[in-house]
Amino acid sequence: MRLCDNTALELANMLRKKQCSAKEIYSDTLQRAQDEQNTINAYITFNDEAEKAAEAVDAMIADGRELPLIAGIPIAVKDNISTKGLRTTCASKMLRSYVPPYDAFAVEKLRNAGAVIIGKSNMDEFAMGSASDTGFFGAVRNPVDTNYSAGGSSGGSAASVSSGGAVLALGSDTGGSVRQPASLCGVVGFCPSYGAVSRYGLIPFASSFDRIGSIGRTVEDTYLLHNIINGADPKDVTSLNIFYPFNLIGELQGIRIGIVKELWNSFIDDDVRSSVMSAIRLMEKNGAVIKEISIPDILSAVKAYYVISSAEASSNLARYDGIRYGHRSDKCENLNELYKNSRSEGFGDEVKRRIMLGTFVLSEGFCDDYYKRAVALRKSLCAGFEEAFQQCDIIASPVYPKAGLKLGENKNPTEIYSADIFTVPSSMAGLPSISIPFGKNREGLPIGLQLIGGRSCDHKVFDIAYGYELVGGGCND
Ligand code: GLN
Repeated sequence: MRLCDNTALELANMLRKKQCSAKEIYSDTLQRAQDEQNTINAYITFNDEAEKAAEAVDAMIADGRELPLIAGIPIAVKDNISTKGLRTTCASKMLRSYVPPYDAFAVEKLRNAGAVIIGKSNMDEFAMGSASDTGFFGAVRNPVDTNYSAGGSSGGSAASVSSGGAVLALGSDTGGSVRQPASLCGVVGFCPSYGAVSRYGLIPFASSFDRIGSIGRTVEDTYLLHNIINGADPKDVTSLNIFYPFNLIGELQGIRIGIVKELWNSFIDDDVRSSVMSAIRLMEKNGAVIKEISIPDILSAVKAYYVISSAEASSNLARYDGIRYGHRSDKCENLNELYKNSRSEGFGDEVKRRIMLGTFVLSEGFCDDYYKRAVALRKSLCAGFEEAFQQCDIIASPVYPKAGLKLGENKNPTEIYSADIFTVPSSMAGLPSISIPFGKNREGLPIGLQLIGGRSCDHKVFDIAYGYELVGGGCND
C-alpha cells in the first residue's frame, strides 16, 4: 500500500514512529495527484511551497517538538478559500489570476498546525452547481468511475481524497456542496453548524448559508480536520465557539434516529433507498431507535433556497465589476461598457443565471412575492426542525437521490436543483450534517447516508457517525 492511501491518523502515527517523513508523504501524494490530474482534473493549482512546508515539519520532528496530529498531512483546499500567495480562482474566468494577499481563517489554522497544503481543488464556478461542471477549468471526474461526475460543487476536494491525491480536504457547503460530492465519491463529508468555522477568507456565494466543511476517508479523519479549523474568530461576527470534546466514543445505544416521512415519499432511486434503509437498520440493530417524524415545510426548502441564495449571490457578486480586481474587458469605450463587458466575459452561464434570478427576486414589485416569502418559509422550516429535535437526536436520509451522476447527462437547471432536496433543508436551518458512505449501487457507484444534528450539536453528529462506522457502516464494500 502506498503512503497516500493511508488515513491521516495512520500517517500521523507513522510519522511519530519515524517510519516515514512528511516529505515522503507529500511526494507520494503529489505523485498520485499529478498522475490522475489528466483524467480526474481535481486540481486547479498545485502549491509550489508545499515541499518546504513538509520539510519544516520534518525539521520540527527531528528537534523533538510535539506537533498536532495534522502536521505533515497533505490537504487539498477548495479554490474559493483564500490562500495567501497562492492563486484562488473560484473556478471562474473572472478570478483566473487572483492571488489573495491573506489566508482564510481556516487556512491559517491549518498552516499553524503544520498541515501541508498540496493545492487548490477544482469546483463549480463560485460554488454554484452540483456536478463540478460549471467551472472555467473543466469538469471533475469521479475516481470511482471516470464516466461519472465527482459531484459538486466541492468535486475536486472529494475526488482528491477518494483517489489518494490528498489525504484530507476543505470544501465549502452552501446547499450541499461538501456532502454531495463526498457521497458520490465514497468519502466522508462534514458540514458544520453555521458559524462553527469562520467564513473569513471564504469567497462568498450566499453568506447566510456558506460554511467551510471537512472531507476525509473516515469519520475520525474528518473530525481531526474539523477540530483544527473550528472556533470563533473576531473577523467573522457570525462565528461561534462550539465546544468539542477531544475524542469520539461512538455510542449508538438509545440514540433516536428521526426519519422525515415527507422526504421518504419523494423520488429516491431504488438502490439508494434500500442502501440507506439498511444503513439505518444497522444502527437500529446496534441499539438505536427509529422514529418517524414530520417536517411539513421540508419539501418547499429547495425552492426557497434557490430564491434566497440567488438573491445573496446577486449582491455578493456585484463586486466583480472589472475595476478593483478580476477580469477586465478590453472591449469598451465607456464605464458602463466596461462593467457590462467585464461581467459578460468573466462569468459563466450558471453564475449569470443566479445573478439574474437573484436580481429579479429582489426587485421592486416582486420582492414580497419571492424573497420575503422564501425568508418566511425558512423561518418556519427552522421551527419545524426545532420541534423535530425534541423527538429525535439525529435525522437520517440519503444525501443524493441517485448513486451516480453521469457527466454531461443533465442540462436542465430545475431538475439539477431539485436533486438538492436532501441537503438544502439543513442548510436553510444552519444545522450540522455529515455524509458517510454506505454501499454501492448495481454499477458499483458509492451511496451516502446523511445524518443531520440539532443546532450546535456538531460533536453529536460526529459521534453517532463514528458509532455507525464502528459497527461496519461507513464503507463502500
Ligand atoms: N447545488 C447547490 C447550488 O448550486 C449547492 C451549492 C453549494 O453548496 N455550494 O446552489
